[in-house]
Amino acid sequence: MNSRRDFLQKLGLSALALQLVPYSGWAAGTDKTEQVYDGPVLRVAIMGLGGYGTIVAEAMRKCTKAKLVGVISGTPSKVKAWQSKYGIPEKNCYNYENFDNIKNNSDIDAVYVITPNGLHHDFVIRVAAAGKHAICEKPMAVNAKEGQEMVDACKKANVKLLVGYRMHFEPKTLEVIRMRQNGEFGKIRFFQGQCGFTIGDPTQWRLNKKLAGGGSMMDIGIYAINGSRYMTGEEPIWVTAQETKTDTVKFKEGVDETIQFQFGFPSGAVASCLSTYNMNNLDRFFLDGEKGFAEMQPSTGYGPIKGRTHLGELNQPVTTHQTVQMDEMCEIIFNNKKPVVPVNGEEGVKDLKIIDAIYLAVKTGKKVEVSV
Ligand code: NAD
Repeated sequence: MNSRRDFLQKLGLSALALQLVPYSGWAAGTDKTEQVYDGPVLRVAIMGLGGYGTIVAEAMRKCTKAKLVGVISGTPSKVKAWQSKYGIPEKNCYNYENFDNIKNNSDIDAVYVITPNGLHHDFVIRVAAAGKHAICEKPMAVNAKEGQEMVDACKKANVKLLVGYRMHFEPKTLEVIRMRQNGEFGKIRFFQGQCGFTIGDPTQWRLNKKLAGGGSMMDIGIYAINGSRYMTGEEPIWVTAQETKTDTVKFKEGVDETIQFQFGFPSGAVASCLSTYNMNNLDRFFLDGEKGFAEMQPSTGYGPIKGRTHLGELNQPVTTHQTVQMDEMCEIIFNNKKPVVPVNGEEGVKDLKIIDAIYLAVKTGKKVEVSV
């Protein structure tokens, strides 16, 4: 969609002028142009111009409340390409050595860290020290201790820290959450989350313990963990987990291939989940209550998300997840909007505490108590 902002940019209006110009916006969670937005626009620099960074940048073309204005990359050729593709001025381009200078750049409000997981901690702490809001991809760090350090650093610097939990803004997901909150499933008894894909290139960072922090659990299993929390509305109090590894060359020490894990919740509800880098067709959620159920497949991919409940098909609008996420993050950062499911650093730390407990349960073979 060619936005009015694109049109105005062609006319050469400055970023500041654009911030002050009211225009039609997308209502959160819909693809309809139905509201006028005249608040501040979140001006974002993306750090890490890889696969997902590119998806976010493309999705941001349709944002009405957020705009890609800068880049941070170690590859000059990528910077050039992004500059011409997205109209990014030279003064908003940084590399990993000099990006602390962003503190002097009043045209950038936030940095979105989209690098390998093992780098999130140090980069977010540097973003905070530069006085910019930090948006960080999942998993926000490689363990809860590092995640907490990031939360503390952002608090100290008085900047916001948000995690790229795009499903927290997805309309069908939000409808299931609404139904559960409204008691339409009755007392929740069971959640099943199955997340995985067959991973390719054995040399990629996702299979490097230092850069990934682990294996499939860090990358894709986290969706089942996060989903079990927002679908049931409870936090687990115990964890059990079992690992299977069929290829010890590809999946080295500390890089999990497949883990099955179970949670117990305070209400007595239980969850049974699977995280894998060695099976396809796994993107399924199932929520079972005394009065009804919800099932979603695909449940966390880029969409369209599909699903049904005991009442019939879920037919909420299909959205571009990252577009809605970035518009909503503008509202969270500038207007203190409270999303239905939080996307703040504390939320990220909760998932990491559970991941720590899962790895401990795998190692010890014991039931591990967890407190998030
Ligand atoms: P990618 O490999 O495609 O891109 C990573 C980028 O980081 C590259 O541009 C690379 O050059 C850069 N980089 C900087 N330092 C690096 C180093 N030392 N080693 C390797 N690369 C380095 O990966 P991706 O798929 O874009 O994933 C990046 C982050 O985004 C991860 O944390 C991942 O979990 C997350 N992600 C989230 C979603 C989502 O739906 N929310 C989807 C995919 C990835």
